[in-house]
Amino acid sequence: MRILDRKETDVDATIIEEEETVLAVETPPEPARRQAGFECELPVGYVDEDGRVHRTAVLRKMTGRDEAIMADRRNRNSGARMMSELLASCLVELGNVENPGLAVAQTLYSADRYYLLMKLREITFGSELTATYSCPTCKESVTLVEDISQLEVRRVEPGAFPEEIVIDLEDGYVDRAGEIYTTFVFRQPTGADEEKISAVARENASRGKNALMARCLVGVGEMPKARIEALGTSIFNDLTLGDRALIDRALNEDGPGVAMTRPVTCPGCGRDYEVTLDLSNFLRPS
Ligand SMILES: [Zn+2]
Repeated sequence: MRILDRKETDVDATIIEEEETVLAVETPPEPARRQAGFECELPVGYVDEDGRVHRTAVLRKMTGRDEAIMADRRNRNSGARMMSELLASCLVELGNVENPGLAVAQTLYSADRYYLLMKLREITFGSELTATYSCPTCKESVTLVEDISQLEVRRVEPGAFPEEIVIDLEDGYVDRAGEIYTTFVFRQPTGADEEKISAVARENASRGKNALMARCLVGVGEMPKARIEALGTSIFNDLTLGDRALIDRALNEDGPGVAMTRPVTCPGCGRDYEVTLDLSNFLRPS
């Protein structure tokens, strides 16, 4: 990560001498102090209204104002909404857009949002993250100290447009006429998608996953678009768990972004298991 040197402009108080002996001191409004910005490269990129892809982002460290965003009762029910507001606040540049704001933060791909969140932690509190996981077999806990600056980041080829994700299912979706559809095509999820499904996901993680997949589903074999939309989330209820796992892997582990899963060996029973990086203390010092 490159640290940009952005000095604040010095504005001296101007002294205006009036007639005779009266001195008036005129102080112009002080410009907002600008923190140093930290530049990073998005794994996917922001696609603007003209279809251009911007990969370079500049973040500033979190401040007390951002702590208030995280503590806001309204945001407590939606991690996705909190993330949008936090990014809107801390993202000072995106490509050639200055202070892109909330609407752009919501437009960003989820992969980029998680990447920016990780960078935000790194520049504000340092790259060390302590998290505790418990073994699914014996419940013995293990505490890991991660260097998040070393996490693998999968990136879309430079200059390339974020591609749709094509998945060939093993069992597929069978409609009432008995026709089998095995090719599912998804677009990359965005912050807006995450915000939309957050209420459902909070109630039921599996339903939340269905809702997110339904929003991002753009093709099912030769099935007409209107029919895909009419089926909505029910199409995913009918898929086998094996097929659902295939989709999950393609959308998460194989997709662009920060590799959030890691192998853990239980110190109690020796079982090897996989954990997803615990983000609950992500935005606090550890
Ligand atoms: Zn164990």
